[in-house]
Amino acid sequence: MNPFTEQEAWEEHQIGKATLKFGSKDKKQMSDDYQYVFEDQIEFIKASVMDGDKYGDEVPMESLDNSKEKSALQKLQDERKTLPVYPYREELLQAIHDHQVLIIVGETGSGKTTQIPQYLHEAGYTKRGRVGCTQPRRVAALSVAARVSQEMGVKLGHEVGYSIRFEDCTSEKTVLKYMTDGMLLREFLGEPDLATYSVVMVDEAHERTLSTDILFGLLKASRNTSNFIFLHKKSKPLPGIPLGWPTNYTLHFSTVAYMHWSELKFDITRFRTDLKLLISSATLDAEKFSDYFDSAPIVEIPGRRFPVEINYTKAPEANYLDAAIVSVLQIHVTEPPGDILVFFTGQEEIETAEAILKHRTRGLGTKIAELIICPIYANLPTELQAKIFEPTPEGARKVVLATNIAETSLTIDGIKYVIDPGFCKMKSYNPRTGMESLLITPISKASALQRAGRSGRTGPGKCFRLYTAYNYFNNLEDNTLPEIQRTNLANVALCLKRLGILDLQNFDFMDPPPAEALLRALELLFALGALNKVGELTKVGTRMAEFPLDPMLSKMIIASDKYKCSEEVISIAAMLSVGNSIFYCPKDKQVHADNARMNFHFGNDGDHIALLKVYSSWKETNFSTQWCYENYIQVRSMKRARDIRDQLERLLERVEIELTSDPNDLDAIKKAITSGFFHHSARLQKYGSYRTVKNPQTVHIHPSSGLAQVLPRWVIYYELVLTTKEYMRQVTEIKPDWLVEIAPHYYQLKE
Ligand code: ADP
Ligand code: MG
Repeated sequence: MNPFTEQEAWEEHQIGKATLKFGSKDKKQMSDDYQYVFEDQIEFIKASVMDGDKYGDEVPMESLDNSKEKSALQKLQDERKTLPVYPYREELLQAIHDHQVLIIVGETGSGKTTQIPQYLHEAGYTKRGRVGCTQPRRVAALSVAARVSQEMGVKLGHEVGYSIRFEDCTSEKTVLKYMTDGMLLREFLGEPDLATYSVVMVDEAHERTLSTDILFGLLKASRNTSNFIFLHKKSKPLPGIPLGWPTNYTLHFSTVAYMHWSELKFDITRFRTDLKLLISSATLDAEKFSDYFDSAPIVEIPGRRFPVEINYTKAPEANYLDAAIVSVLQIHVTEPPGDILVFFTGQEEIETAEAILKHRTRGLGTKIAELIICPIYANLPTELQAKIFEPTPEGARKVVLATNIAETSLTIDGIKYVIDPGFCKMKSYNPRTGMESLLITPISKASALQRAGRSGRTGPGKCFRLYTAYNYFNNLEDNTLPEIQRTNLANVALCLKRLGILDLQNFDFMDPPPAEALLRALELLFALGALNKVGELTKVGTRMAEFPLDPMLSKMIIASDKYKCSEEVISIAAMLSVGNSIFYCPKDKQVHADNARMNFHFGNDGDHIALLKVYSSWKETNFSTQWCYENYIQVRSMKRARDIRDQLERLLERVEIELTSDPNDLDAIKKAITSGFFHHSARLQKYGSYRTVKNPQTVHIHPSSGLAQVLPRWVIYYELVLTTKEYMRQVTEIKPDWLVEIAPHYYQLKE
């Protein structure tokens, strides 16, 4: 079935009509034609104008001498000088020189991310160590590093590099390192004093991601000589020294209990009073950061902000995706030149919007100006990501379909119109049920303001909110809740324990997580054998912490050693880490795609084994792209799985697990999986629903699962997702005795 057929016929008809009508191009005529080209319309009400600031005139760029003789590099250098941060260069460097911690606040696009690390390099900070700059998102780290390497005229990965999970693009030469906040957190594990860094810049601090919040706590501790002791590899246990000693220090690191006096003294001299810490944020609530870091000074970089006209819909829109598409076309046909930025919640939505927009503009030829559609989301291949930054050709209009990434992380020049449907995908966590869900949620007022601001960077802009003014004022929260207060903390708890932090309850969080969530995390780690009864990290826990994965996945890998199937289990872990983008299903070939997918489920061995079969079959074809096409499998996702698997294989060596394999012993593989996921077990109920064993709740097998029709009596699942129902995704059948065999401390037989 092609869902477009009907629409197609309708559109052909409309085009016919429009062609007849097209004539002189006065304003009246244009809007008449517009009604024929696209019949649907949304009525907006202009509500207010967000003030601009002292920069009254447009054109900062054109004022430059852009004569042809100049090299591309020279032009980039000139461009750098037009950024709002440039006049503050000396002041900033002075402040960084004078203070150990500095809070920097500046509008998106002022040049914080791309310029400040370069200033530090030019001022010689990189002679003493690297400058690290953290980003909450992978795409941002990658794209910014690419831009900075261009500006510096060096190859990406040489002087300027990036590091994101499962991908390290740095070298010996690298002095400016952009990375996700999660990566810096992991680096702490290997190097608790961050010795290779002279400056750490925690960028986009207003995002308050989990990793950023944890970094805050660690960085605060690491520069505070009175409460930070580094672990020292050579230190030996010294019996008789109680934890928490000596008394004149507030100890955050348990390892001190294993340090000798003399070493203790030696270690204290290694405190990093020379480590500079910059916290940068795009919003003005910097006071909170400053308070947290003992009244650190705040430097404000005034942005370049033009007035933005805010429009709301007259009535609520039933379908924001449709409404967004209609608005794009409406702007395209009726508004003066200027690019459009639309915020969507994720890749799927963006792809749908892209397809519909392409379809609706196809065949209109010269009746409308060219519309260049540029999607941007985390999994978009790098080559395509660069497209959003290319200047729009004369006469055309660009429409950028973006996730939240474009809210503050990436600046796209030339945006004049913003369409804000008012939603984002947000993680939420219920510690009582242990359910983590990614839900499409209304954004906060703070986000709405940021989004609107994206249209007023190079000239006066317009923002079209696809919700009513009433909705904005009465239903949106003021601020987004920090991630730490709405997420599963198992991973973080393991990481902090690995760093030797004993007492998580009293860790200096900027906003502490709910006590219950922390407790849950510790319980899980205990159940997995990562912590002992008094909350100390065990050997298993130490090995688990080596893997940049969820603790349940890490445990599954550790357990694969016992069941002699590490080869298979790391393939499964890699495939699970890629997410739900392995199979694809073109709308017009649904039956074929479904059949191809079901081939891997032959034997009803469950979704984990099916993922393993996909990986192994692909490997057998020597990683063939053709094979992926034939089987409706996304080659990009598979390549990513291969990269992740390679890295996991290297990590196996670190934790001294041999590569072992018996592809025919499926029970062994399933037992290894159960060792990590026994927490996620469920039992069949009447009418095909399931009941989770711990924290009982009713759930269902996701329709995409190979077991959705099979309904085994006992299953374990990888994750719970809440869509129309509470679904288990990636499900495998188990025998109930395995639970008792594998996790006797957790499950007992009922007599
Ligand atoms: P901030 O971090 O303050 O939001 P950035 O340093 O990210 O600002 O961006 C400053 C300017 O650099 C942007 O306005 C844009 O002109 C330019 N820029 C940033 N990244 C890119 C890129 N990948 N391609 C082209 N230009 C870019
Ligand atoms: Mg930035």
